[in-house]
Amino acid sequence: MRRQVKLNNDELHQPEVVSLFALVGMSITGLMAIIGLFNNKIALAAALFFASFIYFIGYISYKKFNNIVLSSAIVLYSLYLLMFYLVYTGGVEHTGPLWIFIVAPVSLFVHGLKRGLADIALFITLISFIMFIPTDSIAHANYSTEFKLRLIYSFLTVTFLSALYEYSRGKSYQRIVELSKKYQQLAHFDPLTQLSNRRDALAILKQEQARILRNDEPLFIVLCDVDHFKKINDQYGHNGGDAVLIELAQIFAKNIREQDCVARWGGEEFLFILPQTSAINAKVIAEKVREKIDQQVIIYQGNKIKVTVSMGIAQLNAKQNIDEVINRADNYLYQAKSAGRNQIFP
Ligand code: GH3
Ligand code: MG
Ligand code: MG
Repeated sequence: MRRQVKLNNDELHQPEVVSLFALVGMSITGLMAIIGLFNNKIALAAALFFASFIYFIGYISYKKFNNIVLSSAIVLYSLYLLMFYLVYTGGVEHTGPLWIFIVAPVSLFVHGLKRGLADIALFITLISFIMFIPTDSIAHANYSTEFKLRLIYSFLTVTFLSALYEYSRGKSYQRIVELSKKYQQLAHFDPLTQLSNRRDALAILKQEQARILRNDEPLFIVLCDVDHFKKINDQYGHNGGDAVLIELAQIFAKNIREQDCVARWGGEEFLFILPQTSAINAKVIAEKVREKIDQQVIIYQGNKIKVTVSMGIAQLNAKQNIDEVINRADNYLYQAKSAGRNQIFP
């Protein structure tokens, strides 16, 4: 029963923000269309109304159908089309090209750094193509060469700055995800053995107790303590003791079932949680682990270390106090120690 730390990795592309873009795009183009109507620019107004409608579809495709890929594509590429139109026609008083600067940050935000940059490259190529088509072949807004070149230079500068921003945003996000994973790991797992820590074990016990209440399937716990561990520390040093604990943890984890959990309860004590297990099976599992440890020789810096463990078993019922059950297992463990160690009680 390995509990995984769950983290959502999708958040960098924030679907909520894409739908907000769609909503804002719909409102702005709608408003500009109305202004265009008042200015008697019927073709421009019609194009803007159409763009506004496309944004509406982009908004709906996320809100209603939860399709963020489609929604992003609609928001972004309809923005491109609108920009092509504005540059081609010149918009109001040849101010249309001013709007292309919003393409850089929006592309990077919607599609991320790599795909965003590829989108932008395609966009600026098409825009340059539109602007540099000779006016005598197709009639369109005519800009001076100086204007066109400066528009492209400034657009590339804004792209560079936006990409830089997007890159550092991605890096910070990655760092936050890593830190968050690290702290989750520290909160749930013991750093030495990588087993669940005491807090996690208690949480699992509480969770399992709720399940016993529903299913009425027996659960056993096994408290396990390394015999004469002090001697190991004395003989091989604290690092040697640590190496033994790491090795033991691996043997424990290997010899339990999928539904079981083994936690580091403290120092050289481990707690096994065995859900859906009869008293007989709990004893069989504990015996198997005890035997494995008894047979294993742990190698530390060329030294062969022999280790044994003692165990106490107790059943956890639906309404029992968890501390009481642990105490009962601890009492049995004490009896196993008194009886000569390397054994299981009851
Ligand atoms: P027994 O349980 O068989 O009665 O004897 P013991 O020698 O194991 O007894 P005790 O529980 O008194 O000693 C446990 C020792 O484990 C004491 C402590 O220094 C050591 N210990 C606790 N935590 C760690 C750890 O993380 N690393 C190392 N190396 N030693 C630890
Ligand atoms: Mg102990
Ligand atoms: Mg001990």
